[in-house]
Amino acid sequence: MRIVLVGPPGAGKGTQAVRLAEKLAIPHISTGDLFRANISQQTELGKLAKSYMDAGNLVPDEVTIAMAKDRMEQPDAENGFLLDGFPRNVSQAEALDRLLDEESIKLDAVLDLEVPEEEVVKRIAGRRICRNDSSHVFHVTYSPPKQAGVCDVCGGELYQRDDDSEETVRTRLEVYHTQTEPIIDYYKAQGLVVTISSLGPVDEITQRALEALKREKAENK
Ligand code: AMP
Repeated sequence: MRIVLVGPPGAGKGTQAVRLAEKLAIPHISTGDLFRANISQQTELGKLAKSYMDAGNLVPDEVTIAMAKDRMEQPDAENGFLLDGFPRNVSQAEALDRLLDEESIKLDAVLDLEVPEEEVVKRIAGRRICRNDSSHVFHVTYSPPKQAGVCDVCGGELYQRDDDSEETVRTRLEVYHTQTEPIIDYYKAQGLVVTISSLGPVDEITQRALEALKREKAENK
């Protein structure tokens, strides 16, 4: 399957993406994770991306699209992928359509995770991520690690993302509403959007998402 995951920051995209990708046996492609890997490896792309990310703004389309294209062309993504955080505006969505057209392939679904704004702020403020692997995500209240500050999975140090500060979160939400939300209408016009609530236990949300994707796939056949 080829899926795009959308939702505001704090909707649980990263958490659900890891789980869904595993269940569906497709690679999880997160442009945020790719940028963070570039930052920790101190590449030129990482240096460029960091200034935009720290301010809560989008990294310019040209570099983002080139990076996403390069990742989607890796052999493991040949039969499907789950895009998390890309596309993030209409021009990226149009670029993705062009890339898919060139390969004569199509998206199967756009999964929209819905969550109330007050909840988003609470989720982000308490979010802690492992330095070794950004797919190991905890929350100080909702899913605390056994030992504070230490990753349950690998023992790595947990930290708060620079762009998870309250001020940056406000900018990220604003960017989401003005730039990313319009892609939902863009994909609705293609009949691809499935919306689910992203409230409740993590396992239940995964189940809800899998059922919604199954229904969408059956309808598109
Ligand atoms: P995320 O991990 O998806 O929350 O992304 C973290 C940050 O990376 C965003 O706030 C942006 O600064 C940047 N970023 C991630 N994906 C994109 C994208 N598709 N376009 C532009 N910037 C992005």
